[in-house]
Amino acid sequence: MTDVMLQTVDLSYLAAAVLFMLGLKKLSSPATARAGNGLSMLGMTIAVAATLFKQEILSFNLIIIGVVIGGVIGAVAAKRVQMTAMPEMIAILNGCGGGASAMVAVSEYHRLSPRFETFLLITLLLSVIVGTVTFTGSVIAFSKLRGIISGRPIVYTAQRASNWLLGIVVICLTIGVCLSPANISVFYGLTFLSLLLGVLLVIPIGGADMPVVISLLNSLSGVAVSMTGFVLSNNALIIVGSLVGAAGLILTRLMCEAMNRSLTNVLFGAFGAVGKGVDVAGAAAVAGTIKSYTVEDAATMLENAGTVIITPGYGMAVAQAQHAVRELASLLENKGVKVRYAIHPVAGRMPGHMNVLLAEANVPYDKLFAMEDINADFAHTDVALVVGANDVVNPAARNVPSSPIYGMPILNVDQAKTVIVLKRSMRPGFAGIENELFLKDNTMMVFGDAKETLQKIIAYIKG
Ligand code: NDP
Repeated sequence: MTDVMLQTVDLSYLAAAVLFMLGLKKLSSPATARAGNGLSMLGMTIAVAATLFKQEILSFNLIIIGVVIGGVIGAVAAKRVQMTAMPEMIAILNGCGGGASAMVAVSEYHRLSPRFETFLLITLLLSVIVGTVTFTGSVIAFSKLRGIISGRPIVYTAQRASNWLLGIVVICLTIGVCLSPANISVFYGLTFLSLLLGVLLVIPIGGADMPVVISLLNSLSGVAVSMTGFVLSNNALIIVGSLVGAAGLILTRLMCEAMNRSLTNVLFGAFGAVGKGVDVAGAAAVAGTIKSYTVEDAATMLENAGTVIITPGYGMAVAQAQHAVRELASLLENKGVKVRYAIHPVAGRMPGHMNVLLAEANVPYDKLFAMEDINADFAHTDVALVVGANDVVNPAARNVPSSPIYGMPILNVDQAKTVIVLKRSMRPGFAGIENELFLKDNTMMVFGDAKETLQKIIAYIKG
């Protein structure tokens, strides 16, 4: 390959890296996220094309077959996936990223053995370890979310100590491979134990904490890709892997902050285990009576309000009520009611869950307000309409120090003149705790599926 060709490839990688960074920047706002995705796709296309060009591939047959099979599976899965199943899909994609990096590293091990440069061998082993941990960890995360295995934390005696021991054995085997690189048994022993480590690290984590774990695994898959980039001397992989690693880590931190939990608590707290983590008793000491209202009561209250703040939660996603929410908002606006939406950073089951659903229903972005921008307004609002939200509006986070969600920032819907809550029952949400909001004097509970209830309210208002 001539120098000019190599420079062209490097420039293409640079262009791809710039496109990835611009794409990531645009993903930080719902208004520009679509464009951000487009830029990142363009960057990826350039990077893949440059890589195929660089490798001076003689036969494209296998590559085309792989691209077609992978492309069809990816397109069909993306088209079919329900928004509520998105974390599962991301888990599988992370697993594929980690697994692919590990497999490339294993094949490079065989290709280069027994002559390794020290730096290359270390990055190769890191790629194998991080890639395999990501792979099996993601498979467990997927299985927990899918219900293939129990979503409850699987805990046993001396679990943490045995995991530490396994981690130390993995480090020892890594040193062993560095000292004796040609020893295939030690190399495969390391690979197997890393696979096992991924399983054992994720099984004690509750299914409901999986989105945070998935974000962390996403970061790890980036690290694995980056290490593979060093093994293959491929700048595009190094840059992309680093971006994914950093972005995943930032997202993990943001999610933990929004839940007011440390990453250590998420990873080792066994949140959701029976008798552990969830202080149901502490939060259950709520007094009051449930006041169940009819859709007619709710509709009358809404159409007579001057200001309404809609607060969506996971239940809106389950009910697929976003279009009905939008229709009701338009109807109220036509009657002169000021309608806005309050979005909690961890409402739903993945970051941006509510934004994506409301964007799908064409709710204008300027009507969506982040928690810190709208919280002060609830006190001056006539009706807070809670659509399938629970933990993110639970005043226990402010008032009950023994509550597992104490300290988590919440939307202050209880400060509105009237709170209308749409949910099916008194069942708790993700945190498994009762919610005193539902018993407050200014709260109207309207029981039923959120979409059906909203459709009935709309029909009533339309007369
Ligand atoms: P919650 O899980 O607290 O509550 C959802 C509520 O929706 C339930 O109480 C349920 O009550 C109701 N619901 C379910 N289906 C329907 C339906 N068809 N119609 C009407 N209501 C329904 O959700 P929130 O959004 O308030 O809080 C999210 C929680 O998830 C937080 O605790 C957060 O920490 C956690 N989490 C979020 C992540 C994220 O990235 N967003 C990641 C990890 C965890 P009922 O069954 O009675 O209908």
